[in-house]
Amino acid sequence: MMVVLVLQPFRSAFTRIAGNNNNIKYTSNFTMHSLLQVLLCFIFWSVCHGKPYDGKKEFHDGEKCGYEFCPKGKPNMLNVHIVSHTHNDLGWLKTVDQYYYGAKSSVQIAGVQYILDSVVEALLADRRRRFIYVETGFFWRWWLQQDDQMHHTVHRLVNEGRLEFISGGWSMNDEAACHYASIVENFAWGLRKLNDTFSSCGRPKIGWQIDPFGHSREHASISAKMGFDGLFLGRIDYQDKEKRQLTKTMEHIWEANPALGSDADIFTAILPNVYYPPPSFCFDLLCSDPPIMDDPRLEDYNLDERVSTFMKLINEQAQNFSTNHLIVTMGNDFNYQQAHVWFKNLDKLIKYINEKQNNGSNMNLFYSTPSCYLYALNQANVTWTTKADDFFPYASGNHTYWTGYFTSRPALKEWKRESSAFLQTCKQIDALAQLGPEDQKDVNILREALGVAQHHDAVTGTARQDVTDDYAVQLHRGIVECHEVVKAGINKLSNTSADYKFCTLLNISQCKHTEKFTEIQILVWNPIGRTRNAQIHLPVEDATYKISGAGGVDIPYQITPLSKDVLSIPGRNTTATHEISFRARLPPIGYSTCLIQKLAKKEKDEARRAEVFAKRAKRSAVDDRDFTIQNDFISLTFDQVTGSLKSLTNLETQTTLAINQTFGYYEGSVGNNTKEDWRATGAYISRPNCATGKKNQNSGDDASSCLRLLTGNETYEIVKGPYVQEVRQYINTWVSQTVRLLSGSRHVDFEWQVGPIPLSDGIGKEVVSRFETSLSSKGTFYTDSNGRQTIKRTRNFRPTFELSNTEPIASNYYPVVNSIFLEDEEQGNRLTVLTDRPQGGSSLKDGQLELMVHRRLLVDDWLGVTEPLNETGMGEGLVVRGRHHLIFTKSAKSARRHRMLVHDHYAAPSILFNTVSDKQEKQSSYSAVSVSLPDNIHLLSLEQWKGSSLLIRLEHIFEPDEDPVLSQPATVDLQNIVRDMKITAVQEMTIDGNIPLDSVHRLNWNKVDERQPKVPEVGNFEKTDASTTVTLKAMEIRTFQLQVQTAN
Ligand SMILES: [Zn+2]
Repeated sequence: MMVVLVLQPFRSAFTRIAGNNNNIKYTSNFTMHSLLQVLLCFIFWSVCHGKPYDGKKEFHDGEKCGYEFCPKGKPNMLNVHIVSHTHNDLGWLKTVDQYYYGAKSSVQIAGVQYILDSVVEALLADRRRRFIYVETGFFWRWWLQQDDQMHHTVHRLVNEGRLEFISGGWSMNDEAACHYASIVENFAWGLRKLNDTFSSCGRPKIGWQIDPFGHSREHASISAKMGFDGLFLGRIDYQDKEKRQLTKTMEHIWEANPALGSDADIFTAILPNVYYPPPSFCFDLLCSDPPIMDDPRLEDYNLDERVSTFMKLINEQAQNFSTNHLIVTMGNDFNYQQAHVWFKNLDKLIKYINEKQNNGSNMNLFYSTPSCYLYALNQANVTWTTKADDFFPYASGNHTYWTGYFTSRPALKEWKRESSAFLQTCKQIDALAQLGPEDQKDVNILREALGVAQHHDAVTGTARQDVTDDYAVQLHRGIVECHEVVKAGINKLSNTSADYKFCTLLNISQCKHTEKFTEIQILVWNPIGRTRNAQIHLPVEDATYKISGAGGVDIPYQITPLSKDVLSIPGRNTTATHEISFRARLPPIGYSTCLIQKLAKKEKDEARRAEVFAKRAKRSAVDDRDFTIQNDFISLTFDQVTGSLKSLTNLETQTTLAINQTFGYYEGSVGNNTKEDWRATGAYISRPNCATGKKNQNSGDDASSCLRLLTGNETYEIVKGPYVQEVRQYINTWVSQTVRLLSGSRHVDFEWQVGPIPLSDGIGKEVVSRFETSLSSKGTFYTDSNGRQTIKRTRNFRPTFELSNTEPIASNYYPVVNSIFLEDEEQGNRLTVLTDRPQGGSSLKDGQLELMVHRRLLVDDWLGVTEPLNETGMGEGLVVRGRHHLIFTKSAKSARRHRMLVHDHYAAPSILFNTVSDKQEKQSSYSAVSVSLPDNIHLLSLEQWKGSSLLIRLEHIFEPDEDPVLSQPATVDLQNIVRDMKITAVQEMTIDGNIPLDSVHRLNWNKVDERQPKVPEVGNFEKTDASTTVTLKAMEIRTFQLQVQTAN
C-alpha cells in the first residue's frame, strides 16, 4: 500500500521566506522514525538542513522576485535594461581569500566583502535600483560573517527582486577544461546554498557565463537541465560576433544536446559589449571615465554631451538586435566596492535620458536584471534562429586564439581531475556508511575547494603562480579531509578499525608505505557500478613478493625496474626502484583487499621479473629487424633504429595501421602585444611561430610542418614480462615515454614524461605528442565536450561563419577533456586517444592527431595575468608525467571501448594501505549493490544530501546510434544501489539536485526549427510512479533525491 503524505509548508528562521512547500512524497514504509524526522523538521529547520524548494513560480506577500515583477518597459520605445553587476574571479592575480578581504591592493584593488557591504547599502537607499550577484563561493563567505539583522535585510532585498542571484555556481566555471561532473558539482553546491537560504526567490533563473574563454555545448545542456531559461555569454569569436551583429543573431536558441532534444535547448544571448559598460561609461572608482557633471553652475559641466554620447551608443547597439529591448551591462571586474558611485551616476543617466521622452525621445532606461531582459525578449513576438555547434575556439583578434589555456599548467589540471574523481568516492563511502555531520563537513572542504578550482582562471592555468599554488593547497586540504572520511567509512562498512594510509605521490612512483614492509594490506575501492579488473602499479624495492587475494588465492604479479627517467624526477625521494604490477578484481561500488608480503631473498621468483633489453640506436649494434611487443589483442611494431612506433595491428580485426608517434614543440611567438601582429604566446594564447622557416620534416608546406620534431639520442629499452610489455623511449634529456601493453588490455598506454622544458635557447615551447597514421580522415576529427558529447571538427572551418584563418595551427585547436578521434569512413576504422587530463588537441593534416601536453614560456600574452607561464618545481622547469590511451578498432565497436574506458580511468579506484600487522580478516570484499549496473549506466554521484536524504545521479554514457546495444535505454532499480537501506520515497530533481523536476516550467520560445535530424520520440521517461525503477535514454543524466531508512 502506498501512503502519500505531502508536508505542509514550514517557515524558516527568516519569516519572510515563503513558498517552500515540501513536495517530497513519502511512500511505503512510513515509520515512526520518518514521523519523528518530519516533526523535527517542523520544529528546527536545521534538522532538515535546508528545505527543498518546490520551484513553483508563485510568490507570496511581499515577494516580488518573479518575472511578473520585472520592469516591463514601454511599448514603441527602445527599452534599455541597465544591469548593475560586478564580476568576481575566485582567484586570478590574488587568491580567492585575498580577493574576498581585499588584501594585496598593490596587486589589484579588489575586495569582495566591500562590494557586498556597499551594494546592500546602495540598494536600500533607492528602491528602484537593482543588482545581480553571481559567484556563490564569494557570497557565502560574506553571508557567514553577517549578523541576523543583515540576513533579514538581504532576505528582503532578494524577495523584492532588488538583489537577484544569477547563475549561482560556486564559481563561474571554465567551459573548456572542466569535466562535466565538475560542472554539475559546482552548480549543485552553489545553488544549494541559495536554495536553502533564500528558497524560491534565491533560485537563479538564468546562466551567466560572461568571462570564460569559449563556450561548450555540454555546459549549455547542463544549464538547460538545471531549469535555466537562458544563458548569457560574454566572449565569442570576433568573426562570429561580427556576423551575428550584422544578421541580428546575437540572441538565438542553442540546441545544446541533440540526444535530449528540446529539453536541452537553451535561449542564448551574447552580450553586446562582453560584460563591460559602453565605452567611457564606467563610473566605478577603479575607472577613469568622467562622472555625470550636471550642475551648470560648476566647471566641467558635461551632462548634454554625456547624454547624447550614451544615446548614440545605444542607438548603434540597437542596430544589431532584433527587439525593442536592449541590455547594457554596467559593471566590470570587482566593481561596486563603493557602489554609491556607480548608482549615483546611473540614477542621473536614467533620469536625464528619460526626461527627453517629454521632447519626443523614444529611449527608455531603467534598472533591470538579465533575467528581466530575457523575459522581455520572451514576451516579444520573435522567432529565433538556432545553433547546434559550440563556441570553440575563441579568438578575440586575428592572432589572438585562446587555445593555449587548454593545456596550460598540466599538473594542476591533472590534480584537479584526480581530486574531483576522489570527491565522488568520498561522497559515495560517506553515504553508504551513513557517516555523521562532522564527516560531511570534511566532504564539503573538498567540494568547495573543487568549486573554486573550476573557476575560469583556475583549472584553465591562467592564474598567477602563487594563486595556482593556493588552488593546489586547497585541493590538498580537501583530499586529506576526505581521506579521513573514506577511512571512517570503510571501517564502518567493514566493521574494523584499521588505520588506513594513502599515497598521493603515485604519479611519481613514490609511496612510503610500499617501500619497507614485510606485510601490507591493500584495500582497493571501486566507485563504478560494474565489476572490473583494475590494473594496480605500486612502487616497491627490488625484492620478491607474494600477493594473496580473497581466500588466500595467489595473485600473479610482475616486478619491473622503473625507467631511469622516473628515477631521476626532481624531488622524488624514495627507495623504490621497481614497480609491482597486478590486476585486482573489484566488485561494483565496493572494495576488495589483498595482502602483499615481502619474501626472503632466497625465494626469488625469476618468472615474475621483467627483463630489460637496452638498445642503443646504433645500426651496427642491433640486427636490422624491427621488433614487436604484443598481447592477445594488439601487436605493436617499432623501428629498430630509433625505437619509435611504426605500426599497430588489432589482432581481433586483423587490421594493421601504419602509425608513427613523435614528440615535438611549437616555438612560442614573442611580441609586445601592442597590436595583433605582435601578439605573444602566453598562458591564454597559443601562437606557434612558424616564420622561422624550420620546416624540418618532409611533410610539405602544411601547418603541421611547423612542429619542431624532437629526435636525439634515440635510445630505448624493451621490457618484457609476463604481465606488462613495454618500450621505453628516451627521446632526449627532457622527453621520454613508455609505450605499454598490459596483458588482457585492448588499448595501448603511452606514458609520457616531459620536462624540465629547456629555455636556455631563449625560446618558449609548447610540447606536443603527435600520432601520424595512414587513416583517411578527410579534414575532420572529433573532440568531446567537457568529456561527454562528441563534436565533429572540420579543419579550417566553422559551421556558423566564414573563417578567415590567420593562425592555421591555433585556430584548429580544440579542448579535449577525455577523448579525440579520427575516423576513416571508407575503411570503417577509428583511432581514439583518451587523455588523463584536459589538453588542447587537433588534427592539422589528414591521418594526423596531436595533443599538447606541456607548455613553458618566457613572455606574457598581455591578457591580464602579467606573468609568463613558466612553471618550476624543485628549482627546475616542472616535470610532468601523464598518459594517453590509444584505441584502434572498427568504428562500430569503438564507442563501446572508449566510453567504458573513459569511465574506468576517470573513476579510478582508490587504494588504501594498512601497514599494521593485523591477523584478522586480511582478505575481504564488499559491494553496495546486489547486481552490477548496466554497462551503459554510470553512477555519477551518490551522496548524503539534505537531512536524512540521499542524492543519486545516474547517467547514460552513450550517445544515440553509437552502439547498437549500449545506446539503447537502460533501466536501473535505485533500491539496488543502496542495498542495505530501505528507500521510502523517490523524488526526481533538476540535475543540480535542488528542486523537484516536476516543478520546473521553463519559458517557451518560438524557434526556426532547423534541427537535423529530428530527434526521435523515444517515449516519456519522466518518473511518475512511486517505484524505485528508473530508465535512462542515451546521454541522459537524471538526479533523484531519496528518503531512506537504514537497517540499524
Ligand atoms: Zn573572470
